[in-house]
Amino acid sequence: MRHMIPIKSEREVEGVRRSCVLAANLLCEVASKIEPGRSIREIDEYAGVRMKACGARSPFLGYKGFPGNTCISINEEVVHGTPRDRKVQYGDMVSLDLGVIFEGWVGDTAMTVAVGLVEGENRRLMEVTEQALYLAIDKARLGNRLSDVSHAVESFVVANGFSVVREFVGHGIGRTLHEEPQIPNFGPPGKGPKLKTGMTLAIEPMVNQGTSKVEILGDGWTVVTVDGKPSAHFEHTVLITRDAPEILTIPEGRAGEVARKLKEAQQIEKQIAA
Ligand code: MG
Repeated sequence: MRHMIPIKSEREVEGVRRSCVLAANLLCEVASKIEPGRSIREIDEYAGVRMKACGARSPFLGYKGFPGNTCISINEEVVHGTPRDRKVQYGDMVSLDLGVIFEGWVGDTAMTVAVGLVEGENRRLMEVTEQALYLAIDKARLGNRLSDVSHAVESFVVANGFSVVREFVGHGIGRTLHEEPQIPNFGPPGKGPKLKTGMTLAIEPMVNQGTSKVEILGDGWTVVTVDGKPSAHFEHTVLITRDAPEILTIPEGRAGEVARKLKEAQQIEKQIAA
């Protein structure tokens, strides 16, 4: 079998859902600590303390030797930023990727946060990346094929003059952080396995303002753009259902906001189709 994508039962979905809500809540909480003068290390340590207090732990810590609880990547850093002494500065765009293992299930979510005023092309980069995520989520429907999700990201990003990172991709998620399938943020539509009810997928566009080309810093982890231009990253864990996709990584009290963003994406899609 080429594609062994785990299908979760109702009971298993409940486990993933709980860990996803916790990840989403912690993402917001840790993001609120992203302030000028604070180092990546301090923010990451705070995340570790909060995870522990919630009875959870990081699926990133120790993954192939990764040294952080979270991935914190600033400006030209794309993803997988390690805990370092680099300090957040006013005007930065900070990508925070946070996963938890809670009661045996993994949830994974990310967002790019503006530190103070971020305007112009940098603001647009963040907006386009987040909209690309919601456009992709809207394709995560029963009967669609996996690459419909991928294609939604790439076509929107390219139409907006930005580029998608090709070396790193989204993934199935559940008992472990990375399950089948891999979910690229590029490719033609209509390819790959059909999406089925009970699949849980972490969809995560990584979008660069300039070239799509990236390299890895000397720490062996932190991915940066080769042209030094900024990058943004948004991620949700999503459940395929009989009806609309269910976003599992919604922070408590934010369902309205997330529904609005999904609706906005659907309107963008209609405009593209017209
Ligand atoms: Mg992920």
